[in-house]
Amino acid sequence: MYFCDTMIRENLQRIQRTIPDGVLLLAVSKTKPESDIMEAYEFGCRSFGENKAQEMVGKYEHLPKDIRWHMIGHLQTNKVKYIAPFVSLIHSVDSLNLLETINKEAKKCNRVIPCLLQFHIATEETKFGLSLEEAEEFITTPEFRELQNIEIHGVMGMASFTDNTEQVRNEFRHLKSIFDTLHAKYFPSDTFKEISMGMSGDYQIAIEEGSTIVRIGSSIFGARNYAI
Ligand SMILES: *Cc1c(COP(=O)(O)O)cnc(C)c1O
Repeated sequence: MYFCDTMIRENLQRIQRTIPDGVLLLAVSKTKPESDIMEAYEFGCRSFGENKAQEMVGKYEHLPKDIRWHMIGHLQTNKVKYIAPFVSLIHSVDSLNLLETINKEAKKCNRVIPCLLQFHIATEETKFGLSLEEAEEFITTPEFRELQNIEIHGVMGMASFTDNTEQVRNEFRHLKSIFDTLHAKYFPSDTFKEISMGMSGDYQIAIEEGSTIVRIGSSIFGARNYAI
């Protein structure tokens, strides 16, 4: 146990040195125990990423209230109500239907919930996310413009799992170009400023290509054990 805790701190020290000011290190704590989160918290981390609503709620209830919880996983509409009271940023918005649900639940809590639009930039078929065309289709509708309790703060994407760093770089460039297009055409405000891209294996490339939030799990907390 003591060994593990030391590892988390050392990992954070090593990683933090490679992240420039202005880029948020989001510690991805999915599947990890609250004791691991507290170790990172004591190091100074205040932003944590989870991909399951129930898991996030449990951790939110037990852990310090100045933690900012980010939803990074695919979100089902029937789960939005559980996280709406406290979630800081939802990275994984990929439909108008989901946005309308977030808006409705945010309104009940008298909040405006910041969201990112998730884009499909990898070659793999399985990953969630929009194309630029699909996003433009709904952000130009009156229904979208009526949503008062959500605010679009930027974009999110995941690159392919591959050793081909040129391919990964091109996928991040693609996401940056989508961000630039949306910023110029639809979201001129300064609040549209986040590009959430980069994970343990590729975050340095992502930073070079303009990332503002890197989502790092296994390099901080070690490999995840889904069998538990
Ligand atoms: C799990 C996860 C991460 C973190 O992945 P690591 O490779 O462990 O750093 C980042 N983003 C999303 C969307 C994830 O689901």
